[in-house]
Amino acid sequence: MTSLRDLPGIDELLRAAPALVNEYGRESAVRALRRAVDEARQAARTGAAVPSETELLARAAALLMQCARPTLRPVINATGVILHTNLGRAPLSADALAAMVAVGGGYSTLEYDLDAGTRGKRDHHAERLLTEVTGAEAGMVVNNNAAGVLLALTALAQGREAIISRGQLVEIGGSFRVPDVMAQSGAIMVEVGTTNRTRLSDYAAAITERTACIVRAHASNFRVIGFTESAPLADLVALAHQHGLILLDDLGSGALLDTAQFGLSHEPMPQESLSAGADLVMFSGDKLLGGPQAGIIVGRADLIQTLKRHPLARAIRADKLALAALSATLTHYARGEALEKIPVWRMISLSPVAIRARAEAWAAAVPGEVVPAESTVGGGSLPGDTLPTWAFAPLVEQPNAAAARLRAGDPPVIARVADDRLLLDPRTVLPEQDALVIAALKGL
Ligand SMILES: *Cc1c(COP(=O)(O)O)cnc(C)c1O
Repeated sequence: MTSLRDLPGIDELLRAAPALVNEYGRESAVRALRRAVDEARQAARTGAAVPSETELLARAAALLMQCARPTLRPVINATGVILHTNLGRAPLSADALAAMVAVGGGYSTLEYDLDAGTRGKRDHHAERLLTEVTGAEAGMVVNNNAAGVLLALTALAQGREAIISRGQLVEIGGSFRVPDVMAQSGAIMVEVGTTNRTRLSDYAAAITERTACIVRAHASNFRVIGFTESAPLADLVALAHQHGLILLDDLGSGALLDTAQFGLSHEPMPQESLSAGADLVMFSGDKLLGGPQAGIIVGRADLIQTLKRHPLARAIRADKLALAALSATLTHYARGEALEKIPVWRMISLSPVAIRARAEAWAAAVPGEVVPAESTVGGGSLPGDTLPTWAFAPLVEQPNAAAARLRAGDPPVIARVADDRLLLDPRTVLPEQDALVIAALKGL
């Protein structure tokens, strides 16, 4: 074929491509064929060869495949970052998944009282479990922790002052910045202390008759070392209560188990904040809790009641799938089986010996070596902390190009490049994905 006039018509191409019509529908097939022909025409004007009919059909098929493929796809996380925010944070437990399927595939008691046969409360579902595992008087669930913090500040401090240490004016990532959330809530932020040192007396000096609350935000994703000082939570609570103020504690991760038992630093726990007397404690569902995206607020029953009644609560409420998965995840804690059943805790508690065995199995299938490396918790938890691991470094010429090839696979495998080496950490690869990783490595 040499001239533009030789380009086949759309009808002719359609007749030659019954499979495309069958698979994607006539309209989509026509659109893709038109685009393939338009592209060929454009390219021919700048001197490119006019494609054959087979080439045009292949191009249309590629366009259709691209459109049909969802943009939100499962990937294999071989980075060794357990709560990888870009890769969707916490993988869910089998029970949490089953609960979502059971509730999502049909109707449910989302807002229905089976005993009375009348309207029930959405709020109910996770609350009893939340109080059971944290020891709180009451609790509620919203869309995410950012929303939870916004709701608490809006409902309890709008138009009044909220005191916070300058060392806690943090940016969590994305666009969550504590000062911006404060501004959005209508609370007037009163900063006290300095970046590295804030004393109890700094808070005390800032209290006026306009003060509504003292806020503590956990500096989740960075660490200040050296000449530092901060007021213990229990002291802040005592000061707040002495003045009839509320103490809000934004914990971020909300570790219900002690991270120190795995050689990590101790991540503050909701149970500890509640015992120290915090009036409301807020944390994420999909960080160290290991559940779905959600914002959890636990604490004083009267304050939770105020939050539930606020109009903003309706705008940020949790959906039935999140409530189902969260309840199943909390049940693991209630039964004392979180370490075995919740993927993020399983990954944290994996022994280097077990990880090494899996890396060795990969090495037995593909050329490369097993090297000592470090995994991280991620998700804005435990910055600077690492877990010793063993990674597989496949023998490749160009690590970055090889990493790109792994990403282009199906399912994509996300590896990391360090010291000019491609590294795959078995810790964050689900055990049932080992065969897929080996297949992807064989294709390198
Ligand atoms: C992660 C984090 C948030 C935001 O939580 P999301 O569930 O991601 O909305 C808020 N505050 C702190 C301290 C955090 O670490």
